[in-house]
Amino acid sequence: MNEFIADLVKKVKPSATIAVSMKAAELKAAGQDVIGLGAGEPDFDTPGHIKQAAIDAINKGQTKYTAVDGTAELKQAIIDKLKRDNQVDYHANELLVSCGAKHSIFNLLNAVINPGDEVIIPAPYWVSYPDMTLLAGGESVIVQTTADNAFKMTAAQLSATITDKTKLIILNSPSNPTGQVYSQAELVAICEVVQANPHVLIMTDDIYEHIYWGDEPLTNLVALFPALKDRVILVNGVSKGYAMTGWRIGFAAANKDIITAMRKLQSQSTSNPCSISQAAAAAAFSGPQDCLQTMTDALKERHDFVVQALNEIDGINCLSGDGAFYAFADVTALIDLHKGCDNDVELATWLLESAGVAVVPGTPFGAPGYIRISFATGMDVLEAAMVRIKKAVNDLKD
Ligand code: PMP
Ligand code: GLU
Repeated sequence: MNEFIADLVKKVKPSATIAVSMKAAELKAAGQDVIGLGAGEPDFDTPGHIKQAAIDAINKGQTKYTAVDGTAELKQAIIDKLKRDNQVDYHANELLVSCGAKHSIFNLLNAVINPGDEVIIPAPYWVSYPDMTLLAGGESVIVQTTADNAFKMTAAQLSATITDKTKLIILNSPSNPTGQVYSQAELVAICEVVQANPHVLIMTDDIYEHIYWGDEPLTNLVALFPALKDRVILVNGVSKGYAMTGWRIGFAAANKDIITAMRKLQSQSTSNPCSISQAAAAAAFSGPQDCLQTMTDALKERHDFVVQALNEIDGINCLSGDGAFYAFADVTALIDLHKGCDNDVELATWLLESAGVAVVPGTPFGAPGYIRISFATGMDVLEAAMVRIKKAVNDLKD
Protein backbone atom coordinates (compact mmCIF):
# COMPACT_ATOMS: atom_id res chain seq x y z
CA MET A 1 0.00 0.00 0.00
CA ASN A 2 3.03 2.27 0.07
CA GLU A 3 2.10 3.71 -3.31
CA PHE A 4 -0.84 5.45 -1.61
CA ILE A 5 1.34 7.44 0.77
CA ALA A 6 2.10 11.05 -0.16
CA ASP A 7 5.67 11.72 -1.38
CA LEU A 8 6.20 14.45 1.21
CA VAL A 9 5.19 12.23 4.09
CA LYS A 10 7.55 9.52 2.82
CA LYS A 11 10.42 11.97 3.19
CA VAL A 12 9.62 12.74 6.83
CA LYS A 13 11.26 10.71 9.60
CA PRO A 14 9.24 9.60 12.62
CA SER A 15 10.23 11.49 15.78
CA ALA A 16 13.32 9.68 17.16
CA THR A 17 12.71 10.87 20.72
CA ILE A 18 9.21 9.44 20.70
CA ALA A 19 10.41 6.24 18.97
CA VAL A 20 13.03 5.55 21.68
CA SER A 21 10.58 6.23 24.53
CA MET A 22 7.98 3.93 22.94
CA LYS A 23 10.54 1.17 22.33
CA ALA A 24 11.65 1.29 25.99
CA ALA A 25 8.02 1.20 27.16
CA GLU A 26 7.28 -1.78 24.88
CA LEU A 27 10.30 -3.74 26.12
CA LYS A 28 9.32 -3.02 29.73
CA ALA A 29 5.74 -4.12 29.08
CA ALA A 30 7.13 -7.34 27.57
CA GLY A 31 8.87 -7.99 30.88
CA GLN A 32 12.40 -6.86 29.95
CA ASP A 33 14.53 -5.05 32.48
CA VAL A 34 14.95 -1.71 30.68
CA ILE A 35 15.69 1.72 32.14
CA GLY A 36 14.23 4.40 29.86
CA LEU A 37 16.33 7.57 29.68
CA GLY A 38 14.92 8.49 26.28
CA ALA A 39 11.75 10.32 27.17
CA GLY A 40 11.85 14.09 27.32
CA GLU A 41 9.26 14.44 30.03
CA PRO A 42 9.41 15.12 33.76
CA ASP A 43 8.66 12.12 35.99
CA PHE A 44 6.90 14.41 38.53
CA ASP A 45 3.15 14.23 38.85
CA THR A 46 1.19 17.29 37.72
CA PRO A 47 0.71 19.48 40.85
CA GLY A 48 -2.55 18.86 42.74
CA HIS A 49 -4.10 22.33 42.32
CA ILE A 50 -3.73 22.01 38.53
CA LYS A 51 -5.40 18.60 38.48
CA GLN A 52 -8.19 19.99 40.68
CA ALA A 53 -8.83 22.81 38.21
CA ALA A 54 -9.38 20.20 35.48
CA ILE A 55 -11.78 18.23 37.68
CA ASP A 56 -13.67 21.44 38.47
CA ALA A 57 -13.86 22.28 34.77
CA ILE A 58 -15.45 18.91 34.05
CA ASN A 59 -17.90 19.33 36.90
CA LYS A 60 -18.82 22.84 35.71
CA GLY A 61 -19.57 21.47 32.24
CA GLN A 62 -16.62 23.09 30.50
CA THR A 63 -16.68 20.22 28.06
CA LYS A 64 -17.68 21.99 24.86
CA TYR A 65 -15.76 23.61 22.02
CA THR A 66 -13.99 26.79 23.05
CA ALA A 67 -12.74 29.65 20.88
CA VAL A 68 -10.21 28.19 18.41
CA ASP A 69 -7.39 30.32 19.85
CA GLY A 70 -8.11 29.48 23.51
CA THR A 71 -10.49 30.48 26.30
CA ALA A 72 -10.55 34.07 27.53
CA GLU A 73 -9.53 32.76 30.98
CA LEU A 74 -6.43 30.98 29.68
CA LYS A 75 -5.43 33.84 27.41
CA GLN A 76 -5.63 36.26 30.35
CA ALA A 77 -3.51 33.86 32.43
CA ILE A 78 -0.93 33.80 29.62
CA ILE A 79 -0.96 37.60 29.31
CA ASP A 80 -0.34 37.84 33.08
CA LYS A 81 2.35 35.13 32.95
CA LEU A 82 4.20 36.89 30.11
CA LYS A 83 4.17 40.12 32.10
CA ARG A 84 5.14 38.51 35.43
CA ASP A 85 7.79 36.03 34.25
CA ASN A 86 9.05 37.64 31.05
CA GLN A 87 8.35 41.39 31.38
CA VAL A 88 6.62 41.55 28.00
CA ASP A 89 3.17 42.83 27.04
CA TYR A 90 0.85 41.01 24.68
CA HIS A 91 -2.81 41.44 23.78
CA ALA A 92 -5.30 38.60 23.46
CA ASN A 93 -5.24 38.89 19.64
CA GLU A 94 -1.48 38.29 19.70
CA LEU A 95 -1.85 34.85 21.32
CA LEU A 96 -2.77 31.42 20.03
CA VAL A 97 -3.21 28.43 22.34
CA SER A 98 -2.52 25.09 20.64
CA CYS A 99 -2.23 21.37 21.42
CA GLY A 100 1.29 21.60 22.86
CA ALA A 101 4.22 23.81 21.89
CA LYS A 102 4.89 21.28 19.15
CA HIS A 103 1.58 22.19 17.54
CA SER A 104 2.35 25.91 17.96
CA ILE A 105 5.61 25.42 16.03
CA PHE A 106 3.88 23.33 13.37
CA ASN A 107 1.25 26.06 12.91
CA LEU A 108 3.91 28.75 12.72
CA LEU A 109 5.95 27.00 10.04
CA ASN A 110 2.87 26.32 7.94
CA ALA A 111 1.66 29.89 8.39
CA VAL A 112 4.85 31.63 7.23
CA ILE A 113 6.82 29.28 4.96
CA ASN A 114 6.51 29.47 1.17
CA PRO A 115 8.02 26.70 -0.98
CA GLY A 116 11.81 26.99 -0.91
CA ASP A 117 11.98 29.44 2.01
CA GLU A 118 14.96 28.77 4.24
CA VAL A 119 14.73 28.08 7.96
CA ILE A 120 17.97 28.43 9.91
CA ILE A 121 18.33 25.75 12.58
CA PRO A 122 21.44 25.54 14.80
CA ALA A 123 22.59 21.94 15.41
CA PRO A 124 22.27 20.10 17.74
CA TYR A 125 18.55 20.77 17.37
CA TRP A 126 15.32 19.30 18.67
CA VAL A 127 14.53 16.45 16.29
CA SER A 128 11.22 17.87 15.07
CA TYR A 129 12.37 21.22 13.65
CA PRO A 130 13.81 19.97 10.32
CA ASP A 131 10.97 17.53 9.63
CA MET A 132 8.32 20.12 10.41
CA THR A 133 10.16 22.52 8.07
CA LEU A 134 10.09 19.87 5.34
CA LEU A 135 6.36 19.33 5.84
CA ALA A 136 5.78 23.08 5.53
CA GLY A 137 7.64 23.11 2.18
CA GLY A 138 10.73 24.90 3.53
CA GLU A 139 14.44 24.11 3.38
CA SER A 140 16.32 23.57 6.63
CA VAL A 141 19.67 25.33 6.70
CA ILE A 142 21.65 23.73 9.50
CA VAL A 143 24.31 25.75 11.33
CA GLN A 144 26.85 23.43 12.94
CA THR A 145 27.88 24.58 16.39
CA THR A 146 30.79 23.21 18.41
CA ALA A 147 31.25 21.94 21.95
CA ASP A 148 33.94 24.66 22.31
CA ASN A 149 31.18 27.26 22.05
CA ALA A 150 28.82 25.19 24.23
CA PHE A 151 26.81 24.22 21.13
CA LYS A 152 25.62 27.78 20.57
CA MET A 153 25.33 29.54 17.22
CA THR A 154 27.35 32.75 17.09
CA ALA A 155 26.07 35.98 15.59
CA ALA A 156 28.86 35.71 12.99
CA GLN A 157 27.68 32.23 11.97
CA LEU A 158 24.12 33.49 11.69
CA SER A 159 25.12 36.49 9.65
CA ALA A 160 27.10 34.29 7.24
CA THR A 161 24.12 31.92 6.82
CA ILE A 162 21.30 34.40 6.14
CA THR A 163 20.36 34.68 2.45
CA ASP A 164 17.57 36.42 0.55
CA LYS A 165 15.55 33.24 0.98
CA THR A 166 15.85 33.08 4.78
CA LYS A 167 12.41 33.35 6.35
CA LEU A 168 12.85 32.11 9.89
CA ILE A 169 15.53 31.42 12.50
CA ILE A 170 14.81 28.89 15.24
CA LEU A 171 16.37 29.34 18.67
CA ASN A 172 15.82 27.04 21.65
CA SER A 173 17.30 28.03 24.98
CA PRO A 174 17.61 26.21 27.38
CA SER A 175 18.27 23.69 24.64
CA ASN A 176 16.97 20.25 23.95
CA PRO A 177 19.24 18.27 23.54
CA THR A 178 22.30 20.11 24.93
CA GLY A 179 21.00 21.82 28.08
CA GLN A 180 23.02 24.91 27.09
CA VAL A 181 21.66 28.43 27.43
CA TYR A 182 22.41 31.58 25.40
CA SER A 183 23.73 34.47 27.50
CA GLN A 184 22.13 37.90 27.22
CA ALA A 185 25.16 39.19 25.32
CA GLU A 186 24.95 36.29 22.85
CA LEU A 187 21.24 36.91 22.33
CA VAL A 188 21.71 40.64 21.80
CA ALA A 189 24.39 39.91 19.17
CA ILE A 190 21.99 37.53 17.39
CA CYS A 191 19.15 40.09 17.60
CA GLU A 192 21.39 42.71 16.01
CA VAL A 193 21.90 40.42 13.03
CA VAL A 194 18.14 39.83 12.78
CA GLN A 195 17.51 43.56 13.02
CA ALA A 196 19.83 44.15 10.08
CA ASN A 197 17.81 41.63 8.03
CA PRO A 198 14.22 42.91 7.95
CA HIS A 199 13.00 39.96 5.84
CA VAL A 200 13.72 37.46 8.64
CA LEU A 201 11.57 36.22 11.53
CA ILE A 202 12.95 34.59 14.68
CA MET A 203 11.17 31.98 16.78
CA THR A 204 12.30 31.43 20.32
CA ASP A 205 11.23 28.08 21.74
CA ASP A 206 11.14 28.79 25.47
CA ILE A 207 9.55 25.52 26.59
CA TYR A 208 12.37 24.85 29.11
CA GLU A 209 12.46 28.41 30.53
CA HIS A 210 11.69 27.37 34.11
CA ILE A 211 14.20 24.54 34.14
CA TYR A 212 17.24 26.75 34.48
CA TRP A 213 19.97 27.11 37.10
CA GLY A 214 22.51 29.40 35.43
CA ASP A 215 23.96 32.46 37.19
CA GLU A 216 22.65 35.16 34.87
CA PRO A 217 18.87 35.78 34.90
CA LEU A 218 17.16 34.15 31.93
CA THR A 219 15.91 37.03 29.82
CA ASN A 220 13.17 36.82 27.26
CA LEU A 221 14.24 37.78 23.73
CA VAL A 222 11.50 40.41 23.34
CA ALA A 223 12.26 41.97 26.74
CA LEU A 224 15.94 42.04 25.82
CA PHE A 225 15.49 43.53 22.35
CA PRO A 226 12.04 45.18 22.12
CA ALA A 227 12.77 46.68 18.70
CA LEU A 228 12.37 43.20 17.19
CA LYS A 229 9.03 42.43 18.83
CA ASP A 230 7.03 42.30 15.57
CA ARG A 231 9.40 39.73 14.10
CA VAL A 232 9.76 37.48 17.15
CA ILE A 233 7.49 34.50 17.75
CA LEU A 234 7.56 33.35 21.38
CA VAL A 235 6.64 29.69 21.86
CA ASN A 236 6.04 28.22 25.28
CA GLY A 237 3.70 25.91 27.16
CA VAL A 238 3.01 23.95 30.30
CA SER A 239 4.50 20.56 29.38
CA LYS A 240 7.95 20.79 30.92
CA GLY A 241 7.85 23.38 33.72
CA TYR A 242 4.55 22.22 35.20
CA ALA A 243 4.98 18.48 34.45
CA MET A 244 2.01 18.49 32.07
CA THR A 245 3.25 16.71 28.94
CA GLY A 246 0.07 14.68 28.46
CA TRP A 247 -2.31 17.63 28.76
CA ARG A 248 -1.13 19.09 25.43
CA ILE A 249 -1.23 22.85 25.92
CA GLY A 250 1.25 25.23 24.33
CA PHE A 251 1.00 28.75 23.00
CA ALA A 252 2.54 31.24 20.61
CA ALA A 253 2.77 35.00 21.16
CA ALA A 254 3.51 37.13 18.10
CA ASN A 255 2.38 39.95 15.86
CA LYS A 256 -1.38 39.69 15.29
CA ASP A 257 -1.08 39.08 11.54
CA ILE A 258 1.08 36.01 12.16
CA ILE A 259 -1.23 34.81 14.93
CA THR A 260 -4.29 35.33 12.72
CA ALA A 261 -2.74 33.17 10.00
CA MET A 262 -1.84 30.46 12.52
CA ARG A 263 -5.34 30.57 14.00
CA LYS A 264 -6.83 30.15 10.52
CA LEU A 265 -4.77 26.98 10.04
CA GLN A 266 -5.78 25.70 13.44
CA SER A 267 -9.47 26.44 12.70
CA GLN A 268 -9.22 24.12 9.69
CA SER A 269 -7.29 21.36 11.46
CA THR A 270 -7.64 20.73 15.19
CA SER A 271 -9.96 23.59 16.30
CA ASN A 272 -9.45 24.44 19.98
CA PRO A 273 -7.15 22.46 22.26
CA CYS A 274 -8.92 20.33 24.91
CA SER A 275 -11.21 22.58 27.01
CA ILE A 276 -10.34 20.73 30.25
CA SER A 277 -6.61 21.01 29.66
CA GLN A 278 -7.05 24.72 29.02
CA ALA A 279 -8.64 25.14 32.45
CA ALA A 280 -5.74 23.22 33.98
CA ALA A 281 -3.17 25.34 32.10
CA ALA A 282 -4.85 28.53 33.33
CA ALA A 283 -4.47 27.23 36.89
CA ALA A 284 -0.82 26.38 36.19
CA PHE A 285 -0.02 29.91 35.02
CA SER A 286 -2.15 31.73 37.62
CA GLY A 287 -1.81 29.51 40.69
CA PRO A 288 1.07 29.05 43.13
CA GLN A 289 4.43 28.95 41.34
CA ASP A 290 6.55 27.29 44.04
CA CYS A 291 6.25 23.88 42.29
CA LEU A 292 8.56 25.24 39.56
CA GLN A 293 11.48 25.76 41.93
CA THR A 294 10.95 22.44 43.71
CA MET A 295 11.12 20.54 40.42
CA THR A 296 14.05 22.55 39.10
CA ASP A 297 16.06 21.97 42.29
CA ALA A 298 15.54 18.22 41.93
CA LEU A 299 16.54 18.32 38.26
CA LYS A 300 19.70 20.31 39.02
CA GLU A 301 20.74 17.67 41.57
CA ARG A 302 20.16 14.94 39.00
CA HIS A 303 22.05 16.90 36.37
CA ASP A 304 25.09 17.22 38.60
CA PHE A 305 25.01 13.51 39.43
CA VAL A 306 24.55 12.30 35.83
CA VAL A 307 27.16 14.59 34.27
CA GLN A 308 29.76 13.57 36.83
CA ALA A 309 28.90 9.86 36.54
CA LEU A 310 29.10 9.99 32.73
CA ASN A 311 32.47 11.74 32.80
CA GLU A 312 33.81 8.96 35.04
CA ILE A 313 33.08 6.37 32.32
CA ASP A 314 35.86 5.64 29.82
CA GLY A 315 35.15 7.09 26.38
CA ILE A 316 32.35 9.45 27.49
CA ASN A 317 32.71 13.23 27.73
CA CYS A 318 29.83 15.39 28.84
CA LEU A 319 29.55 19.17 29.20
CA SER A 320 27.64 20.58 32.16
CA GLY A 321 24.42 22.31 31.17
CA ASP A 322 22.52 25.22 32.69
CA GLY A 323 19.02 23.97 32.09
CA ALA A 324 16.49 21.55 30.54
CA PHE A 325 16.81 17.91 31.62
CA TYR A 326 19.22 16.33 29.19
CA ALA A 327 22.88 15.38 29.34
CA PHE A 328 24.38 15.45 25.87
CA ALA A 329 27.46 13.27 25.87
CA ASP A 330 30.26 12.94 23.32
CA VAL A 331 30.74 9.19 22.79
CA THR A 332 33.19 9.28 19.88
CA ALA A 333 35.97 7.81 22.06
CA LEU A 334 33.64 5.03 23.21
CA ILE A 335 32.70 4.23 19.60
CA ASP A 336 36.46 3.95 18.85
CA LEU A 337 36.88 1.65 21.83
CA HIS A 338 33.95 -0.57 20.85
CA LYS A 339 34.96 -2.77 17.93
CA GLY A 340 31.33 -3.74 17.19
CA CYS A 341 29.90 -0.18 16.95
CA ASP A 342 30.54 2.22 14.09
CA ASN A 343 28.37 5.14 15.14
CA ASP A 344 26.09 6.64 17.80
CA VAL A 345 22.99 4.87 16.49
CA GLU A 346 24.67 1.48 16.86
CA LEU A 347 26.04 2.51 20.24
CA ALA A 348 22.55 3.42 21.51
CA THR A 349 21.27 0.03 20.31
CA TRP A 350 24.18 -1.68 22.07
CA LEU A 351 23.43 0.23 25.31
CA LEU A 352 19.82 -0.91 25.13
CA GLU A 353 20.73 -4.53 24.41
CA SER A 354 23.79 -4.95 26.68
CA ALA A 355 23.08 -2.51 29.51
CA GLY A 356 19.28 -2.35 29.31
CA VAL A 357 19.42 1.46 29.17
CA ALA A 358 17.48 3.38 26.50
CA VAL A 359 19.07 6.66 25.32
CA VAL A 360 18.56 8.66 22.12
CA PRO A 361 21.45 8.71 19.61
CA GLY A 362 22.80 12.11 18.58
CA THR A 363 22.29 11.69 14.82
CA PRO A 364 18.58 12.65 14.78
CA PHE A 365 19.55 15.83 16.66
CA GLY A 366 22.08 16.62 13.90
CA ALA A 367 24.98 15.57 16.16
CA PRO A 368 26.55 12.22 15.19
CA GLY A 369 28.93 10.89 17.84
CA TYR A 370 26.70 11.95 20.75
CA ILE A 371 23.95 10.42 22.86
CA ARG A 372 21.19 12.21 24.77
CA ILE A 373 20.37 11.04 28.26
CA SER A 374 17.22 12.37 29.89
CA PHE A 375 17.64 12.82 33.63
CA ALA A 376 13.97 13.65 34.24
CA THR A 377 13.62 10.50 36.27
CA GLY A 378 14.24 9.46 39.90
CA MET A 379 17.74 9.46 41.41
CA ASP A 380 17.57 5.74 42.20
CA VAL A 381 16.82 4.97 38.55
CA LEU A 382 19.62 7.26 37.38
CA GLU A 383 22.08 5.65 39.79
CA ALA A 384 21.15 2.18 38.53
CA ALA A 385 21.47 3.34 34.90
CA MET A 386 24.94 4.80 35.43
CA VAL A 387 26.10 1.56 37.12
CA ARG A 388 24.81 -0.44 34.15
CA ILE A 389 26.46 1.78 31.53
CA LYS A 390 29.76 1.76 33.42
CA LYS A 391 29.69 -2.04 33.73
CA ALA A 392 28.87 -2.54 30.03
CA VAL A 393 31.79 -0.27 29.06
CA ASN A 394 34.18 -1.98 31.50
CA ASP A 395 33.15 -5.40 30.16
CA LEU A 396 34.24 -4.23 26.70
CA LYS A 397 37.81 -3.94 27.93
CA ASP A 398 37.94 -7.49 29.42
N1 PMP B 1 10.26 22.25 21.92
C1 PMP B 1 11.19 21.47 22.46
C2 PMP B 1 12.60 21.90 22.37
C3 PMP B 1 10.85 20.28 23.10
O1 PMP B 1 11.80 19.51 23.64
C4 PMP B 1 9.51 19.90 23.16
C5 PMP B 1 9.20 18.59 23.83
N2 PMP B 1 8.19 17.88 23.43
C6 PMP B 1 8.57 20.75 22.57
C7 PMP B 1 8.97 21.92 21.96
C8 PMP B 1 7.09 20.45 22.54
O2 PMP B 1 6.51 20.41 23.78
P1 PMP B 1 4.94 20.17 23.94
O3 PMP B 1 4.37 19.94 22.59
O4 PMP B 1 4.81 18.99 24.83
O5 PMP B 1 4.42 21.43 24.56
N1 GLU C 1 10.46 16.89 23.43
C1 GLU C 1 10.58 15.65 24.13
C2 GLU C 1 11.85 14.95 23.71
O1 GLU C 1 12.64 15.52 23.03
C3 GLU C 1 9.33 14.79 24.00
C4 GLU C 1 9.18 13.98 22.76
C5 GLU C 1 9.02 14.85 21.56
O2 GLU C 1 7.94 15.43 21.38
O3 GLU C 1 10.02 14.97 20.86
O4 GLU C 1 12.08 13.83 24.09
